[in-house]
Amino acid sequence: METTDINRRNWLKSGILTASGITLFPHISFAETTKAPIVFDNDGNALYSPFFKEYIPEKFPEEDTLLAKLNANENPYGPSPKAIEALKNVAAKGNRYAWKELFKLIDKIALKEGVDPKNIMMGPGSSDLLEKTGMVLFLDGGNIVSADPSYMSLIRVAEATGATWKPVPLKEDWSHDLEGMETAIDGDTKMVYICNPNNPTGSITDSKSLLDFCSRVSEKVPVFVDEAYLGFLEDGAKQSMVGLVNEGKDVIIARTFSKIHGMAGLRVGYIVAQEKTLDKIQKITRGGMGISYTSIYAAIASMDDTEFQNSSRAKNKEAREYVYKSLKNMGYDYVTSYTSFIIFPIEMDGKLFLQKMMEKKVGVRAFEFMGKNWCRVSMGTLDEMKIFTSALTDVLA
Ligand code: PLP
Repeated sequence: METTDINRRNWLKSGILTASGITLFPHISFAETTKAPIVFDNDGNALYSPFFKEYIPEKFPEEDTLLAKLNANENPYGPSPKAIEALKNVAAKGNRYAWKELFKLIDKIALKEGVDPKNIMMGPGSSDLLEKTGMVLFLDGGNIVSADPSYMSLIRVAEATGATWKPVPLKEDWSHDLEGMETAIDGDTKMVYICNPNNPTGSITDSKSLLDFCSRVSEKVPVFVDEAYLGFLEDGAKQSMVGLVNEGKDVIIARTFSKIHGMAGLRVGYIVAQEKTLDKIQKITRGGMGISYTSIYAAIASMDDTEFQNSSRAKNKEAREYVYKSLKNMGYDYVTSYTSFIIFPIEMDGKLFLQKMMEKKVGVRAFEFMGKNWCRVSMGTLDEMKIFTSALTDVLA
């Protein structure tokens, strides 16, 4: 396949920018080096692997003009009222560094996760920690094993640092091919990355099988488990791999306040891992320095607001059920989701689809993998989902 490499300068030329000069899809402008350029096909779509393509629209929407912004898996209900109140109360403290306050948050998280505070590293969003881990663990090269398709943030940074990616396709039931991933591990493998539930498919891998896998494989190489969407499961805490940290296993568990807590713009995330792993990362980078005083207090308040989390979870489920029903009525298939988004196959070129949905003022994402084109739609409010299904009916008619 003929491909075109587009470097940052060409990005500017290609006009994939807003009027203010900010890329609207920052997820595809990260970690680009000459070693690991983002590869585009002739139509300007991003090729993450030979099997995994993301369609990039010809023109990006002015996000403020969208009637339904369903392209970034944001929680439409957040932040929690208690978090907003906390933000307001401490706004005037913005002149201070928040060392002491950060430890307050760490202690609270440690208590919730049942681990020692020294097993926790904070960051401004989990992306920061995915990227720092990807950078530090691959300084001497090596390879990373992950599912394909999966969430690309850590993998892209690892590649840019010098790693090679060994993608292992998801199984037919959309779960991780744990056996295949274990077989893919070789003498150069420095890490296995697992996103569970997985983005962009929304699918889940059985927690018992994953626990066995992590327990066994982490004896050979560190296993990174990204649990960004686990909060949307009613028994999410039970399905977490975090308990393995107390068993001394070399696992790194990532969590974020961006999803169930609805704090994507406030930027708080953390990883739970062995102290020696965190030391390795923190020898080069600093954890928690990027989190603002106000966000720390918002996170503390949000953790106490279980009513908000329960309500987010219930409304997300309601939106998913509405979309399932609508897709079924329209004769469309979908992948059962354990997250705050749904993917379903579309019989239309992804670029054209994005364009047409944008004309209806609906922002979604489009991919190609497993030989099909897919729409990924985030769960907004029920009203937003109605706007989405109405646009979809027109566009795919
Ligand atoms: N991990 C997964 C699987 C995600 O989908 C996302 C964001 O969409 C992130 C991590 C990063 O989230 P944040 O940096 O906001 O914590």
